[in-house]
Amino acid sequence: MTTAAIYVRISSDATGEGLGVARQEADCRALADRLGWTVTEVYRDNDISAYSGKVRPDYERLLSNVEAGTVRGLIAWHPDRLHRSPKELERFIDLAERTGLQVQTCQSGAVDLTTPSGRMVARMLGATARYESEHKAARIRRKLAENAAAGKPHGGHRPYGWEPDRLTIRESEAAVIREAASRVLAGEPLRSIFRDLNARGLHNASGKPWTHPTFRNVLLHARHAGLREHNGQEMGVAAWPAIIPPETWRAVRRVLNNPDRVTTPGRAGRLHLLSGIAVCGVCGSPLRVGHSKSTEAYRCMASACVSRRRDRLEEYVEAVVIARLSRPDAAALLAPDDDGGERERAAQAAERVRQRLDDAAASFAAGVITARQLATITGQLRPELAALEAAAAPPPDRASVLGDLLSSDDVTGAWERLSPDARRTVVRLLMEIKVSRGRRGPGFSTDGIEISWR
Ligand SMILES: [Zn+2]
Repeated sequence: MTTAAIYVRISSDATGEGLGVARQEADCRALADRLGWTVTEVYRDNDISAYSGKVRPDYERLLSNVEAGTVRGLIAWHPDRLHRSPKELERFIDLAERTGLQVQTCQSGAVDLTTPSGRMVARMLGATARYESEHKAARIRRKLAENAAAGKPHGGHRPYGWEPDRLTIRESEAAVIREAASRVLAGEPLRSIFRDLNARGLHNASGKPWTHPTFRNVLLHARHAGLREHNGQEMGVAAWPAIIPPETWRAVRRVLNNPDRVTTPGRAGRLHLLSGIAVCGVCGSPLRVGHSKSTEAYRCMASACVSRRRDRLEEYVEAVVIARLSRPDAAALLAPDDDGGERERAAQAAERVRQRLDDAAASFAAGVITARQLATITGQLRPELAALEAAAAPPPDRASVLGDLLSSDDVTGAWERLSPDARRTVVRLLMEIKVSRGRRGPGFSTDGIEISWR
């Protein structure tokens, strides 16, 4: 357990809004909890007064305690709370390097001063902090002016899942977010989930029923994963706790942003059991239902490679699902072989790629690399990151999807009571279905239908 000090400073060049020392301290303490650090002392300086630019008594005391080895970890709200000038920063870097001091900030994450790139980032942050702060202040003022003109109250809405302080989890709503995340990962469509919530009287932060866009936006919110985000880019660990683990949230985001996801019902006003789930065995494209003469058929939409009667193919797949779920060892479906090691390694690799992206952005900001070089680096790393995040995604919570089916003595009856969306979710969870060309001739044949268990 690392013992840590918190440093807070009130100043007239405050980064961000409402940055009293109490708020800084609260954020820093939350971060210490997340890191598992024990806070031994809080150092406070008031830099607004006539002393501005002069000696900061608590800062000096802090540095001498670092020197003496009684402070091993240091938390500040933002690096600009610690250093007011490049000269102060260089002195601090020198000390941190000699003593191995670990520095964490609420706004910029870990500041590793033991490596050249870490020092470069620290110097860059110092140089841009003032610019950002001025820029942000101007933006906030403009927004407030707009809101005032439009008659809107200041401060915005309370985010769903959170108390009005935006730091404390509202447990009743957090439970809904967790449930929704695991249902999304199990493949259930959003509209099926939020209609169910509406039916249970679980409404949005304004007390109104969920709609597709409001519900989707809530699930895409990085704050639930304890992450800060700006313009769709992750900006590091936040001062508030997480409702769902970051890997889970990223997996949800990937599902919701996947353009291949089928979310709209077909012509008949409903989604067919296997649309977008079964794939063409020839070219790999998803199958959809099309009409020819009087019959409906699943067809390869890309190249018309294959076609199977809709009713027969669905009956066959349903029979296979029910047979599998009726077997004495059906409960084993709840725990597929997975030690999690592979996912853990992918999660760690993803974190390293994110770090490299951050480093590249910092190098660009510091003028070390050009915009073209930055574009080349991010162009290579983004697909790599997407693949690693996919590999790090947690498996869906099978129990929540299969529960009723597995606990029932009458699997067929339980299956028939499921909604169409729930049936699709079960099929998607359990199996991959490939349909290749079958034998020619009349009637339905299971030739060329390949079902593999996930
Ligand atoms: Zn095809």
